[in-house]
Amino acid sequence: MGRIVAIGECMGELSETGTAGTLSMGFAGDTLNTAYYLRRSLGSDWQIDYVSAVGTDGLSDRMLDFLNAEGIGTTHIRRLADKTIGLYYITLKDGERSFTYWRNDSAARNLAGDPAALARALDGADLAYWSGITLAILPNQDRLALIEALSQFAGRGGKVVFDPNLRPRLWDSSETMRHWIHRAAAISDLCLPSFDDEATWFGDIDPAATAKRYRAEGAKRVIVKNGPADVTYDAGDGAIEIVPIPPAESILDTTAAGDSFNAGYLAAELQGACSADAITAGARLAARVIGARGALVANAATRS
Ligand code: ADP
Repeated sequence: MGRIVAIGECMGELSETGTAGTLSMGFAGDTLNTAYYLRRSLGSDWQIDYVSAVGTDGLSDRMLDFLNAEGIGTTHIRRLADKTIGLYYITLKDGERSFTYWRNDSAARNLAGDPAALARALDGADLAYWSGITLAILPNQDRLALIEALSQFAGRGGKVVFDPNLRPRLWDSSETMRHWIHRAAAISDLCLPSFDDEATWFGDIDPAATAKRYRAEGAKRVIVKNGPADVTYDAGDGAIEIVPIPPAESILDTTAAGDSFNAGYLAAELQGACSADAITAGARLAARVIGARGALVANAATRS
């Protein structure tokens, strides 16, 4: 039996249905999306737990019901009486989606506020998955506490997997973002950046430069996603390898492309695939996810 913890924020998702006066309600968020696809890709010999914080209100209950129904463990989700979950609303105009967020005071911002609870969540886990969004939403002292907890976890042999998921709007400046992203990457066994964001915010000239930079910061292995282009990776020996990805049959909505790639990659690697085969598995899952609408595509993942 293996255990994975995904750490971050899941939000309520309200989206227009096309019928006036009717919205549909769901739940999503980068680390949750990855947890969802891990759950659907791995068998019952793996436990997937989500680590976050929610309120004690009815909407928070709905989120926990959703996670439980999906088979994602909620034991390590803190419940805070004076908070509730973050929300976002998707407006559809001529087929294009745009997003409005209410997350500045969400419960999840306190997910690392209790070091003893964090230590309990990580205790006995094999792999911890988190992202630059997880880090962005925390107060400074909790960023430090989470990095400390994860580095102790790594010191005990746990694997820490980090997707930088650069979102400058969640940070007070791009300088601050770059500083913390590097601190987080430094303790990771595997860093999973997406090249276009990295080129924009770190000035990398190509995916190999992204891989080299994160390795220089301390990440042991780096896999650089690049939309429809080849995936570039450094498996830990400094040699840059390139894996071409299969083309997507159709592209309807690229939401959660990176999140699902990460899950497909990790599920394959945890079942013994080599890096190149695991990259292909990640790309296949991402291609199915972007061929349908929404972050969570129920039939995209199949258990091997
Ligand atoms: P993010 O969603 O984090 O921006 P990317 O856009 O780099 O991530 O995409 C992540 C993965 O999703 C890619 O490595 C690839 O496997 C798949 N993907 C994304 N866009 C396409 C596309 N247009 N065609 C085929 N695969 C794609």
